[in-house]
Amino acid sequence: MIVKTRFAPSPTGYLHIGGARTALFSWAFARKHGGQFVLRIEDTDLERSTQESIKAIHDGMSWLGLDHDEGPFYQMERLQRYQDVAQQLLENGQAYYCYASKEELDEMRRQQLAAGLKPRYDGRWRDSKQTPPPDIKPVIRFKNPLSGYISFTDLIKGKISVANNELDDLVLIRSDGVPTYNFSVVLDDLDMNITHVIRGDDHVNNTPRQINIIRALDAQLPEYAHVPMILGANGERLSKRHGAVSVTQYREDGYLPEALVNYLARLGWSHGDEEVFSREQLVEWFDLSSISRSPAKFNPEKLCWLNQQYLKKADNDRLAELTSFFLSRKGCNYHQGPDLSKIVDLLKERINTVEELANAAVFFFRSIEPSEELKQQFLTMEGRTILADLREELAQLENWDRESIHQAIKDIVKKHAVKFPKVAMPLRVIIAGETQTPSIDAVLEILGRDETLKRMNTQLKECSKE
Ligand code: GLU
Repeated sequence: MIVKTRFAPSPTGYLHIGGARTALFSWAFARKHGGQFVLRIEDTDLERSTQESIKAIHDGMSWLGLDHDEGPFYQMERLQRYQDVAQQLLENGQAYYCYASKEELDEMRRQQLAAGLKPRYDGRWRDSKQTPPPDIKPVIRFKNPLSGYISFTDLIKGKISVANNELDDLVLIRSDGVPTYNFSVVLDDLDMNITHVIRGDDHVNNTPRQINIIRALDAQLPEYAHVPMILGANGERLSKRHGAVSVTQYREDGYLPEALVNYLARLGWSHGDEEVFSREQLVEWFDLSSISRSPAKFNPEKLCWLNQQYLKKADNDRLAELTSFFLSRKGCNYHQGPDLSKIVDLLKERINTVEELANAAVFFFRSIEPSEELKQQFLTMEGRTILADLREELAQLENWDRESIHQAIKDIVKKHAVKFPKVAMPLRVIIAGETQTPSIDAVLEILGRDETLKRMNTQLKECSKE
């Protein structure tokens, strides 16, 4: 048997954290078993499906590296298939036309609620011999078995059993010819030979209904694995308020895809105590039995920490490329100035996102005017005298490298009998417009002698005027 899984999003919004995690689990399971992963777009909700969402799903999946082997399939391109099978069920007496009007159904519901009953379709057209009303376009309903139980063993939740008399006759095809979710999903999973349906547990109540349809079609059941939902840190269902924005928003905010993949994998799944692992390790280790039965909690700080771990390890040229995107967004011309991959190498230990990396890199490409507070605190008469001396020293250095620059600073420290920060802090303020930078000698080495002296001259001149 070839393992075949699928991700079947409805394109009614962006690809969010929950969807991406379901996709990742399905993908990892297929890859682990040398199987195939199918992408299917469930676009039968004509009012809410948009091209924009379809694009967001594709973008998110490809950014996360969740490649599919088949598809994307679009349900709206398969209408004929659903209608043909519905026809077959009608002919076999396993489905029927229902002519109940919307008003009639609303009234039925109202009465049931008033009587303290669970609202459900009462089967009034199931075996009806009435003449169909001429002005109503019928729906096609499934003849759900009236008695007995439907039982299945969910690979995460264990045994699930539901009495058939809990289920009503669901609509298979709406009056406009478009199938309902429960019908199209069944036919697709069968036609696409899906062996393992891995999806969010918001669908677990649909599964018994789907199993009944599969049985009516005399087909083989796939395995089911319903993944518990993701909660925000406060225990509420995950929403935007908890930082659960679209997957691509994380790219915009400067996260690395491998960090997000690692984080999503740990949301409800674990392999011992492993926290940081590669995509290859995930594939090697992934199993459905290690998915937790209880909901996972989304923790933005942990995601941030993981991102930091991956940024530290990331290749400098790749990081430079990513950073350049953020720099251009800030209108920063990174083509003129020091080598960006050297800059990222220097900065990457200290930041959480590529966006922060870009923010920290800006001063290499344009001088940043220090705030008045910083000037007053650091560019005092004493500070300026020391820096003027340092400037002379730096101008004469034989080699412009980190060690020589460091030695020059040390010489000035000694000469003025001050502590190292007395020199380094005003220097940082002049060079970067702030006091937080990596080792200042390393910064100056990358910035270059001309630019360093230029900035020192400008600021020292400025300040002496005041
Ligand atoms: N289209 C459904 C959704 O986005 C998924 C259905 C399924 O996986 O069976 O929730």
